[in-house]
Amino acid sequence: TLEARAVSAWFGSHQVLSQVSLTMPAGEVTALIGPSGCGKSTFLRTLNRMHELIPAAQFGGEVLFEGEDIYDASWRLTDARRRIGMVFQKPNPFPAMSIYDNVVAGLRLTGARAGRREKDLLVEESLTRAGLWKEVRDRLRQPGGALSGGQQQRLCIARALAVRPRVLLMDEPCSALDPTSTRRVEETIQELAGQVTVVIVTHNMQQAARVSQQCAFFLAEQGTPGGIVEAGPTGDIFGTPKDSRTADYVAGRF
Ligand code: ATP
Ligand code: MG
Repeated sequence: TLEARAVSAWFGSHQVLSQVSLTMPAGEVTALIGPSGCGKSTFLRTLNRMHELIPAAQFGGEVLFEGEDIYDASWRLTDARRRIGMVFQKPNPFPAMSIYDNVVAGLRLTGARAGRREKDLLVEESLTRAGLWKEVRDRLRQPGGALSGGQQQRLCIARALAVRPRVLLMDEPCSALDPTSTRRVEETIQELAGQVTVVIVTHNMQQAARVSQQCAFFLAEQGTPGGIVEAGPTGDIFGTPKDSRTADYVAGRF
């Protein structure tokens, strides 16, 4: 379980998130939805300290991973990244590196040493979990850049899974993909549920409804930092939203 407690974020003096609290239950898929600029990506990055790469970013609050605050001094950045993986909007495999080496590249993050046999097993396991193994098993030495966009995104998922994270953060993972590839990535997410805690940002309401068990609606009203208007079981958010702004958003009225 990943739990954000009163998370706030600033870029310089501009506050973009205020007191966001959300529990993301282990093994479930949580979808973050809301209009552009409301802070979804910023919130996602605070969940594995990725925002620390942005010099002006400031953070307040707590993020508990299985009860431990990842911002505690005893947690190093690499601890957070190893347990909490990330996949981005634009597929970003190392294009000249082989498919095999792309998957194994994730290991370097952990400093783990693995022998050839171990790596072979890990590559097969990770590509299988990412739903790509059958398509690439005979071309593992080809460059990652030779794959289609949808395959590249699943390769990035395999790379993230190779370090066996407990949580996978995904920021609009399908928005650069065609419908067929989108469907494949959604199937992959559905298969990961139960094994990995997934937090996915999406602008696609059908996608949120298909893949998530829980949904959080973010909004930044004019001149105010972003926050969660309403969060709950996905069926409730889409079927019986409590707040009229949630109802308007999920119905495509803004
Ligand atoms: P979208 O749906 O368009 O991806 P979002 O909900 O992910 O939007 P964020 O990217 O988190 O929104 O941005 C939230 C606010 O923070 C915006 O006002 C944005 O301009 C600002 N912001 C984001 N990244 C930076 C940055 N690196 N430097 C300064 N301001 C930033
Ligand atoms: Mg975003």
